[in-house]
Amino acid sequence: ADQGPRYGRILLKLSGEALAGDRGYGIDPAVLSGLATEISEVLALGVQVAVVIGGGNIFRGMAAASSGMDRAGADHVGMLATIMNSLALQDALEQIGVDTRVQTAIEMKEVAEPYIRRRALRHLEKGRVVILGGGTGNPYFTTDTAASLRAMEIGAEVILKATKVDGVYSSDPVKDKDAVRYPELTYLDVLKKGLKVMDATATSLCMDNDLPIIVFQLSCRGNIKKVVLGENIGTIVKG
Ligand code: UDP
Repeated sequence: ADQGPRYGRILLKLSGEALAGDRGYGIDPAVLSGLATEISEVLALGVQVAVVIGGGNIFRGMAAASSGMDRAGADHVGMLATIMNSLALQDALEQIGVDTRVQTAIEMKEVAEPYIRRRALRHLEKGRVVILGGGTGNPYFTTDTAASLRAMEIGAEVILKATKVDGVYSSDPVKDKDAVRYPELTYLDVLKKGLKVMDATATSLCMDNDLPIIVFQLSCRGNIKKVVLGENIGTIVKG
C-alpha cells in the first residue's frame, strides 16, 4: 500500500482554544510542545506546512463588542491575540529544531516578518513552517476566513481544521445522543444546514475555489499525521 502523504502543502488551522488545553484560558506549554512534535512529524514526511492560529484562548472581538467595546477596536485586540499564539507556537517548534517564520497581517517588524506571499512560498519550499498571524488583518473577519484566504494564496491543497470534536455532527454530540458524524459533506450542505464547521464567509471562499476542508479532532495524538496520510478520520467538506 502507498504510505506516502496525500498532500504536498497543507494549511493547518488551530483554534486558540486548542492551545489552552484544560485551562480554558491562555497557553498550556504541554499542549504547545505536543503540537510542535506533531507538526514536526508531518514535516518529516516532506509535507510543506503553513499554520493559522486563532486567538479565542485570549480574546474574542465579538464577545468584547457585546459588552460594549467598539467592534473594530476589539477585533484589533483579537488579531493581536492570534499573533501572541503564533509567537508561542514558533518558540515551541524552534525548541525542537524546526525552522519557522512568523508572518503577520498587521506589520510588527521587530517581532515578525510582514505577510508577503512570495516570501511565504519561499520559506515553505525551504521546509520552514510558516505561521501566519493576525488573521486577515481586517476587523469583522475570523481566523477561519484567514485560513481559507491564505490557503488559496499559497496554493495549499487542503485546510486541516483541528477541533475539539472528531468531525462534523448533525447536532451537538455532547447534548444529543442521536447525533451522527458525517464522514463527508458538501460546502452547500454546510451552508444550508448551518453546520458549525467554519463561518459562512470562510466556507463560501473555499466553495468558490474548490478547496477541501478536513475537520478532525486535535486532542488525539498523531491525528494530524493520520489525516495527511489519508486516513478517514473526521469529516471532509468538498464540492
Ligand atoms: N480577528 C479579526 N480579523 C481576522 C481574524 C481574527 O478581527 O481576520 C479577531 C476577532 O476579534 C476574533 C479574534 O481575532 O474574535 C480571534 O480570532 P478567532 O475568533 O477566529 O479565533 P479562534 O476562534 O479560532 O480561536
